[in-house]
Amino acid sequence: MNTHFAPHNSQIDCDILIIGAGPAGMAAAQAAAPSGQRIVVVDDNFAVGGQIWRDGPNAALPAIAQTYRRVLAQHHNITLLNSTRVVAVNEHRQILLENSEYAWWQNYDRIILCTGSRELLLPFPGWTLPGVTGVGGLQALIKSGVPVDGQRIVIAGSGPLLLAAAATARKAGAQVIRIAEQATAQRLWQFGYSLWRWPSKAIQSVRLGISNITQYRGNSHILNAMGQNQVESVQLKIGSKIEQFDCDRLACGFGLVPNTQLGEVLGCLLKPTSGLSVNRIQETSVPNCFAAGECTGIGGSERALVQGAIAGYAAVGNLNAVQALENKRHRWQDFADCLHKHFTLSDALKTLAQDDTLVCRCEDVPLAALQTCDSWIDAKIHTRCGMGSCQGRVCGAATQFIFDWNAPPARQIISPVRLDSFMGCCLMPHDDNTARPVVDSH
Ligand SMILES: Cc1cc2nc3c(=O)[nH]c(=O)nc-3n(C[C@H](O)[C@H](O)[C@H](O)COP(=O)(O)OP(=O)(O)OC[C@H]3O[C@@H](n4cnc5c(N)ncnc54)[C@H](O)[C@@H]3O)c2cc1C
Repeated sequence: MNTHFAPHNSQIDCDILIIGAGPAGMAAAQAAAPSGQRIVVVDDNFAVGGQIWRDGPNAALPAIAQTYRRVLAQHHNITLLNSTRVVAVNEHRQILLENSEYAWWQNYDRIILCTGSRELLLPFPGWTLPGVTGVGGLQALIKSGVPVDGQRIVIAGSGPLLLAAAATARKAGAQVIRIAEQATAQRLWQFGYSLWRWPSKAIQSVRLGISNITQYRGNSHILNAMGQNQVESVQLKIGSKIEQFDCDRLACGFGLVPNTQLGEVLGCLLKPTSGLSVNRIQETSVPNCFAAGECTGIGGSERALVQGAIAGYAAVGNLNAVQALENKRHRWQDFADCLHKHFTLSDALKTLAQDDTLVCRCEDVPLAALQTCDSWIDAKIHTRCGMGSCQGRVCGAATQFIFDWNAPPARQIISPVRLDSFMGCCLMPHDDNTARPVVDSH
């Protein structure tokens, strides 16, 4: 595996381009590699692993993550581009990539989208205070070395990620004082009972459940976070009671949202529910464009791994191997469906934000300013909602939930971009299909 890629001296043509090196992207690369075709894997993190196997000074990678890393490293036809992100695409099977030094057009023949998901963050009074993060955000901070030893942490929101974050925080020496899950106790019991069909998940939840049993509450949600310069306390609604807890941090996440922007810009259709639509071989509605993992809908790392492997095999034409994995994918899709059924968000969460609560925190747009708008585009035009540095990645999904607006349409430029890369994107002639580095920031 070539990890020292420099655009000037390495190939910028490849047979298979994989975007995202989480479980889905790693499994896709591993499945496609024995074909001997030239594979390029791009990820904006500094190391492979995606969200669940995020590396860092305080990260302990599980054996399965280390095995995937080792196997990928053995294949010399895989080029890994870390700390590299997709900026734009064109219709000639070229993708504009950017790292800290260069921007260049990458040619490909087939592409596999494994762009994962991001957290759904919902606004509530105090959510912009320092010390308030997403649940996965808290995990990422801890893994990257932020100390939480001795800190009191409240975790709130929905889904199994709350328990995983609590375990990470506790392992790092924090005191988790309350975990507020919005799903009702009845739903939680039903979910627990249904896990007999996935024994590994049942064991995992028993283990996490036992270590969190005294702090975990169903039918509970955040009301507000309070503090002068930093969160100092939070109010939670627990059943019909309101309780206040002093704390040093609040981690709040309401599930995950598939990252579909890149697929949408490439012309891929979406499912009516959420995520990119794919067929039996994980191919999207665009020929030779495959998708796997959370960008096709939220479903956990096991589903991402099997979908990634299917996409990798399909991209190299190994349809026997695809067929052999279909039952496994079906099994983990059932698990995903079970998750969605039991952790559906309550409508009560639509009213957490007050009139003066900022919904778009990049452009300081409060809820009251949005209440007179009737769509995302209307809100953008009249309030600048979604026009700041996150480009609607946070407030777009939040307003979709709160107001039932349609999702923000994907934009041609996928992420905030350096001016020199942007110029390269505008000036590059693409029709001769001879990609070359367009910008060298040196
Ligand atoms: C913040 C967060 C924390 C999570 N923590 C856990 C956990 O502790 N336990 C658990 O079971 N599940 C966790 N999950 C769910 C977990 O992501 C999935 O179960 C699983 O990792 C999905 O694998 P994937 O390969 O589909 O996506 P991911 O693991 O999300 O990998 C996608 C990768 O693509 C990269 N990427 C996306 N877009 C681009 C682009 N334009 N250019 C370059 N690179 C790009 C991302 O940086 C990422 O590395 C978490 C999810 C999130 C969002």
